[in-house]
Amino acid sequence: MTIYGSNIADVTATWISCPIPYEKQHVSDFGRISSFDMALVTITLENGMVGYGEAKAAVGSQGSCEALVAIIEKEFKPQLIGKNSRQISRLWSLLYNGTRSGYGETEGRSFHVLGRRGIWISAMSGIDLALWDLAGKRMGTPVLDLMGGAAREKMDAYASGGWADVNTIGEQLRSYVEHGFKSVKMRVGVMDGSVSASVARVKAAREALGPDYGIMVDAHGTFNPSEAQEFCRRTVDLNLRWFEEPVSADARKAMTSVRRDAKMPISMGESEFTCFDFQDLIDREAADILQPDMAICGGLTEGIKISALAVANQLELAPHCWGSAFSFVAGLTLAFASPASRIIEFSLGANPLLKDLVVEDIDAVDGSFSPPTGEGWGLTLNPDFVTEYAK
Ligand SMILES: [Mg+2]
Repeated sequence: MTIYGSNIADVTATWISCPIPYEKQHVSDFGRISSFDMALVTITLENGMVGYGEAKAAVGSQGSCEALVAIIEKEFKPQLIGKNSRQISRLWSLLYNGTRSGYGETEGRSFHVLGRRGIWISAMSGIDLALWDLAGKRMGTPVLDLMGGAAREKMDAYASGGWADVNTIGEQLRSYVEHGFKSVKMRVGVMDGSVSASVARVKAAREALGPDYGIMVDAHGTFNPSEAQEFCRRTVDLNLRWFEEPVSADARKAMTSVRRDAKMPISMGESEFTCFDFQDLIDREAADILQPDMAICGGLTEGIKISALAVANQLELAPHCWGSAFSFVAGLTLAFASPASRIIEFSLGANPLLKDLVVEDIDAVDGSFSPPTGEGWGLTLNPDFVTEYAK
């Protein structure tokens, strides 16, 4: 039954590209990052209620969102106008299964269109997050409450950054823990030029922080298998919290063999799509920690399924959060709701989409977050920011 006014009246997508001042830009294997980009999805209902979501074109911060905007406005919008916004799972199935969505509904399984991975799923993520925002606002509760509420009182956050060279990495990471973070993540891999250089930077980090802080390392998939194994051997005494994407996410077999030999947990998942990709990682025993990105993997609807996979396999779930306030709060919400989560990523890169896109101040307190409390995602868009940085 359709409740009056809950049908979808309009769907828009806006590419927001916010330049980063040169002195605040960071450099990694992704290059010098000069902007943060996102596709802001806005869904308006017949009753005037508005929900927001985020879709990402790049797993880092910088990337063209033109294709995302086209998919959302040219492909998805015509399918969504007039549909009941309360049927989030059904609408997810509609976009995933296309003209065969009727079979999906009657048979209870997927009959996907061509875009079953990649940017099509990122675009679906933005729609899905906006629909969840509307669901919370309609009920007058945080999305978290619709998922069964918080599974814990606090969620530790780790400070995600760590690009500095061997001489300054200690100082950079100490500046993070001075803000209360108990764990930090630093980048390693091809940007260092050699395994030895990466190992030296991690040793310098451990020496600077001492034994009591968690250190994660992220190679962004840039080591080859033998380099990754060498890195693991040479950092075995540094008590790393996890080693993220040691090799390419496409090299599943190599990821499995690195994990088998490593004496530290292996994490991955930021560029995976749907629960089917995560099922594959689990089948291959490729990861200890699953890291779905809510603006990439298929949205919260898919995040819930990935959480269930983590729980059933007793793996850790640590959502990837490297985007705007919307994907951050969605990731935080999933983490709070999931029994498999105990830490969330918090970007220490200069990120105006996290800090200035919305009115609310999003920041860790003593290195942790409390459960979100506002209606929907609990975020108020800053329209001036959108106007200024819309492409
Ligand atoms: Mg990463």
